[in-house]
Amino acid sequence: MESAATPLDQIRARIAHACKVAGRKAEEVTLVAISKTHPAERIVPLIAQGQRVFGENRVQEAQAKWPDLKERYPDIQLHLVGQLQSNKAEDAVRLFDSIHSLDRPSLVSALAKAMDKAGRQVPCFVQVNIGAEEQKGGCEIADLPGLLEQARAAGLPVTGLMCVPPAGIEAAPFFALLDKLARDHGLAGRSMGMSGDFETACLLGATHVRVGSALFGTREG
Ligand SMILES: *Cc1c(COP(=O)(O)O)cnc(C)c1O
Repeated sequence: MESAATPLDQIRARIAHACKVAGRKAEEVTLVAISKTHPAERIVPLIAQGQRVFGENRVQEAQAKWPDLKERYPDIQLHLVGQLQSNKAEDAVRLFDSIHSLDRPSLVSALAKAMDKAGRQVPCFVQVNIGAEEQKGGCEIADLPGLLEQARAAGLPVTGLMCVPPAGIEAAPFFALLDKLARDHGLAGRSMGMSGDFETACLLGATHVRVGSALFGTREG
């Protein structure tokens, strides 16, 4: 690795290598740079290096940071990767270009209403509580068929599934399970893999990897 390589260069190279190993094209994987807690000054250098897809986990924080940046760089795509309260659905639909945290019936209704009102279709991933953990975001696997049916009936553009596997144990089986669930339901998108495991996720079919600390350094907040 050249010493001049930036963290972004390194992550891109690692994604490309994992894809090569898996017989996939690097372009099949979208790197979502998770910029939560980091100010615009930390984000602009990544934009200057060509990164265009970013993710935030809080609507309010994103509203403070991103409208200016999106105006300066209109081709930026902003993804919401954190839990969404139904009363923030309208704000989210206006600001974000993709939502990775659709996880319950009440949010299906709120997002469908918000998209109608805004006249804007925002692609959604259904978040699955893939490790059946207590107090973890995401719908239960058993509830997934019903939620998908409801989302389709409401006209929501559902493009894939998303998961955050349990911490501290091997993530690969959970990625493989999400991939299988996506295949079973005819969904192309798989949002899985973070700083510690994005290469594994690429090997197992990720279409979107969400990388924060490996790009930005450790968060303070
Ligand atoms: C913060 C966050 C990430 C990025 O995590 P890192 O380990 O810093 O790469 C990915 N996905 C979600 C849902 C997050 O909240």
